[in-house]
Amino acid sequence: MKYDYLIAGSGLYGAVFAYEMKKRGKKCLVIDKRNHIGGNIYCEKIDDINVHKYGAHIFHTSNKKVWEYINQFAEFNNYINSPIARYKDELYNLPFNMNTFSKMWGIVTPQEAKDIIQLQIADLNITEPKNLEEQALSLVGRDVYEKLIKGYTEKQWGRDCKDLPAFIIKRLPLRFTYDNNYFNDRYQGIPIGGYTAIIEKMLEGTEVLLNTDYKEFTAKNGQVADKVLYTGMIDEYYDYKLGVLEYRSVRFEQERYEMENYQGNAVVNYTDREVPYTRIIEHKHFEYGKQPVTIISKEYSSEWHKGDEPYYPVNNEKNNLLYEKYRQLAESENNVIFGGRLGNYKYYDMDKVIEAALDKIEELNKNE
Ligand code: UDP
Repeated sequence: MKYDYLIAGSGLYGAVFAYEMKKRGKKCLVIDKRNHIGGNIYCEKIDDINVHKYGAHIFHTSNKKVWEYINQFAEFNNYINSPIARYKDELYNLPFNMNTFSKMWGIVTPQEAKDIIQLQIADLNITEPKNLEEQALSLVGRDVYEKLIKGYTEKQWGRDCKDLPAFIIKRLPLRFTYDNNYFNDRYQGIPIGGYTAIIEKMLEGTEVLLNTDYKEFTAKNGQVADKVLYTGMIDEYYDYKLGVLEYRSVRFEQERYEMENYQGNAVVNYTDREVPYTRIIEHKHFEYGKQPVTIISKEYSSEWHKGDEPYYPVNNEKNNLLYEKYRQLAESENNVIFGGRLGNYKYYDMDKVIEAALDKIEELNKNE
């Protein structure tokens, strides 16, 4: 036996784990089925622009420990995410705040906004929101729901808002101040040099095999390590034997334009049903780029099928129950750990991935 850990997946979870284990004198082998490291935070430099190849990633956290941790690997710029929502030809600020309400209703004060929302939902009598629709209506009223949430959410998730969990919409701040910061977190930014450079640093000195599928590799090579960290889909690991968990996949249409500025903002969400994509990312604006050209990505959301890239776990009741069964199976494993968005079937943000990886390392240390 050559390695202490075989790590399947070189995304953020796998890379933090490998870095921490190397620090503790453990020998790890990282394998990844793609032809690059970094999982979905992978960036590729095109025309001197860091292109987020698997969708926009904005680092934000309120956890000082996590912020200091990630700052070991990169300096961060002062980017603050402030997406624009486009509903047909109307433009609104996100997240839902006084700028949004003032534009929507021509009002000025927080009390006016609250009164309108109250009036729009008075007859619904929602006491405890049971799904995303009820949650959204009770927070922002019918107009904002119809124009900025319903269409976008149904495109993004491929499901009716009544069939989605309320927590998804609670990811977004709701404010009665004129503040377009998409996050409430204390720390926020984009790493100077891009995310791939962070992963490269984390994996420095660790052996990495690309284009290597876990199942094929272990079938050919037997047991090359004492333990396994698996960051792929937990149901795939078990050959879907208890059932198939649902995921959403995303397809990106990347376009390059000979112009300095295509849309004037890094993120523009298209919230009506008619436009087939959910949002357009203009990558250079994450780093205040001044290049004479620009790269944009249109995001098309679709249901995941075997063979597609999974992006978002669909954490509704049915899937969470099935995941719980897989989790119990996983718990009985002595030598396999599951981690990350896919291994834990959780809609994690990057900071939560780091937190989870560091917690896991601490837990393993205690038990050693
Ligand atoms: N959302 C919406 N309208 C928007 C942006 C977001 O209704 O313009 C809802 C939608 O349901 C989405 C959720 O808020 O799935 C979370 O959005 P977030 O931006 O956190 O999604 P992510 O960046 O993870 O794709």
